[in-house]
Amino acid sequence: MNAALSKKLLDVFPMLFRNRHESSMQRGFVCGDGWFELIYTLCQDIEAVACQNGLTPDSPEWPKCRQVKEKFGSLRFVVFAVDGLTGLNERISELRLAALNQSLQICEQCGRPGKLVRVRMATLCLEHARQISTDCYLG
Ligand SMILES: [Zn+2]
Repeated sequence: MNAALSKKLLDVFPMLFRNRHESSMQRGFVCGDGWFELIYTLCQDIEAVACQNGLTPDSPEWPKCRQVKEKFGSLRFVVFAVDGLTGLNERISELRLAALNQSLQICEQCGRPGKLVRVRMATLCLEHARQISTDCYLG
């Protein structure tokens, strides 16, 4: 993800991405710009359920992201589990899974509707799929 979009996420959700140099998050957002909105919304939703569970951004238990990357064409957003807050961890897992499934329908490069291009294991729109291969956007 480009520097400007990465900075926006870090600026809007500083506590979710705190201490990121101590985890795989030090590598940044290892995916294309097309998933920016999806990640932004996921961050908002995770913080919302944290608030619903009585946490505030200055709580030590506030969710902390461990890794954001593309894998097999889908978004993997990993969050450290919060001790003693099973319900919150379950809600965050549901949100992460929903975002993973959504990412399989969003071009990672541009954010337009896309689908999984299996020969590349990447989720792309027709245009971006054609840039890498002329015959991989079947089915
Ligand atoms: Zn595209």
